[in-house]
Amino acid sequence: MTSPSQDERIRRTVAGTNLGNNRDSTRQHNLSTVLRLVHSMAGVSRAQLTRATGLNRSTIAALVGELVQLGLVVESNLDLAQQHGRPSIMIEPSRGALALSVNPDIDVVSVALVSLGGHIVNPVRFHTVRAPSVPEVVNIVKAVYSGMRTSLPAGHRIMGVGLAIPGLVDPVDGTVIEAPHLGWRDEPLAALLSDALKLPVIAANDAVVGARAQATFGAGRDVSDLVYLYGGASGIGGGVISGGRLISGATGFAGQLGHTHVRSGGAACTCGSSGCLEAEVTREELIAAVGLPAGETENLEEAVMEKLQQEGSQALRDIIERQVQLLAVGLKSVVNLLNPSMIVLGGFLRILDRAAPDALSEALRAPGTRGPRERVAIELAPLGEDPILVGAAELAFEPLIRNPAGFLRFHDDDADVPLSFA
Ligand SMILES: [Zn+2]
Repeated sequence: MTSPSQDERIRRTVAGTNLGNNRDSTRQHNLSTVLRLVHSMAGVSRAQLTRATGLNRSTIAALVGELVQLGLVVESNLDLAQQHGRPSIMIEPSRGALALSVNPDIDVVSVALVSLGGHIVNPVRFHTVRAPSVPEVVNIVKAVYSGMRTSLPAGHRIMGVGLAIPGLVDPVDGTVIEAPHLGWRDEPLAALLSDALKLPVIAANDAVVGARAQATFGAGRDVSDLVYLYGGASGIGGGVISGGRLISGATGFAGQLGHTHVRSGGAACTCGSSGCLEAEVTREELIAAVGLPAGETENLEEAVMEKLQQEGSQALRDIIERQVQLLAVGLKSVVNLLNPSMIVLGGFLRILDRAAPDALSEALRAPGTRGPRERVAIELAPLGEDPILVGAAELAFEPLIRNPAGFLRFHDDDADVPLSFA
């Protein structure tokens, strides 16, 4: 598959935005468009911005100047890729513009600062012996965050908190409606965190934010029809991007792909049904098969790949073959329903594709297959939970990117004060 040029990617990003008409809204739109480009490309040249937006060079220079003043971008070295043409100044996202990402799960609370451009600054995985309660998550995040703040450079600014939840989240107020593996129901975690940290908090489902990260920075950045399937401690979640847009459904709960039915008379599921994908294809079964302690997931992928090289791995092979076949059943439904051009597998689902290379693609593309299953590509998300943390930060950055100057003016009163002045 050929990858579109950087200019083509930029053109698509601009096409998705709205260059405004009257003077004030034009400036706001243009500022937003430029910041979105710099953020999603993690840096562009002035020349690329000029070509992509169709704005003249002095307008681009003024917009970039304003973003520099706002502390959101920096101008840096010459663009070395353009050695043959005229050198152009590179505009990069400021490392001081930060979001706090939080992802609680049944055995760990992940917390990280993520800078504009999607760079994870200092991830912390706080392990818990059992599923944390909501007050425990608030206390853990508060403690970890105050530890992080001591090492931040002067002049940094925390724009907000993105909260990725392994469960259903009310898209209006961020209430966790249900996170069955955590045992949570109707929990106002976003409001409690906002109170504790004095920062705006935006919450969403973890797989949905993972899909968003894949679409902005990952394997799916050039793909407008993408399904992201993420397997973690709390089952399997999905995010669907169709026609370049994240599908949310009538009440924000679209993409519950873990509850796709894959086996009649199958295992009981937390949703009350049975034979759901996430009840049949579980990380815990793989952990037990390689003899790691429960919840020991950091080295699971390596442990599985190593064990497959050894004698006596037949039991593990059988488990993987069974999980791959059931995952393929689920993916066939997904592909027939949504016709994506790419499926990105994250979390422990990566292992199934690595351990049985081509088995998934073969199951999806049985000989003679026509229609949506004919051309779909399967890609693996980067290792670890990073896409979830990067995607959670996107939640916090979105209001800033939509209206950079307005957002910062509005939040000036309760701005995060740089530590050097504290
Ligand atoms: Zn279910």
